[in-house]
Amino acid sequence: MIEIQNLTKRFTTQSGTVVALEDISLTIRDGDIFGIIGMSGAGKSTLVRCINMLERPDEGLVAVNGREMQTLSPAELRSARREIAMIFQQFNLLMQRNCLKNVCFPLELAGRPKAEAEARARQLLELVGLPDKAEAYPAQLSGGQKQRIAIARALATDPKVLLCDEATSALDPNTTHSILQLIKQINRELGITVVVITHQMSVVEEICNRVAILDGGHVVEQGDVGQIFSNP
Ligand code: ADP
Ligand code: ADP
Repeated sequence: MIEIQNLTKRFTTQSGTVVALEDISLTIRDGDIFGIIGMSGAGKSTLVRCINMLERPDEGLVAVNGREMQTLSPAELRSARREIAMIFQQFNLLMQRNCLKNVCFPLELAGRPKAEAEARARQLLELVGLPDKAEAYPAQLSGGQKQRIAIARALATDPKVLLCDEATSALDPNTTHSILQLIKQINRELGITVVVITHQMSVVEEICNRVAILDGGHVVEQGDVGQIFSNP
């Protein structure tokens, strides 16, 4: 479970202080596919980056599976981050490494033996439907394929949570659909809790069971997708 209580995050810029998030409280339950929807600048990215402490909150609490993230030592935070994977709009693959080596990367960082890491990476390439792309380089892949490789890499350390930051925003509608279906499969079959940031209602409607609407750094509504977006 991810518990966010009274979270506030400000940025200091040359032109003054920006309040990116103000007094946000949210609960994301185990097994949820939780959507965070809002316009550009609403604070979605900052909120999700506060879950794994890529951004440090100024006030409030973030607890992931009972662990208060702000209180962790650097070593504890590294270990906690292995349980909280992330994928991005621009995939963030390592262009100088082939797909197998991209998927191995987090396992290498975690100090796993090479043979074990490669065996695990091949299983994951199978899971995302690209077993034949192990030796290919990211530049040789389509956008949808790149995101599949990024998903395989995100799953390498057996995370409990997958954070998706506009993960389908660079993809065409058909590819978006296939990636959303893969995310749904991962949630269902691997029991991974998923947080989906998007500016597209269609993404929330396709895969989320719960949703929070963010506007100007505030949660204006949260609850079951069926209730919030029900058409009277
Ligand atoms: P979203 O993901 O919904 O587009 P963001 O979380 O990226 O929104 O941004 C929320 C607000 O915080 C925006 O006003 C943005 O300009 C500001 N912001 C985000 N990151 C920074 C930063 N590193 N420095 C200054 N302002 C930032
Ligand atoms: P996906 O649905 O996974 O995005 P596509 O149907 O778009 O896949 O792509 C099919 C094939 O075309 C892929 O095998 C890929 O190698 C190639 N391809 C597509 N887009 C690109 C691109 N931008 N650069 C290189 N190859 C591409």
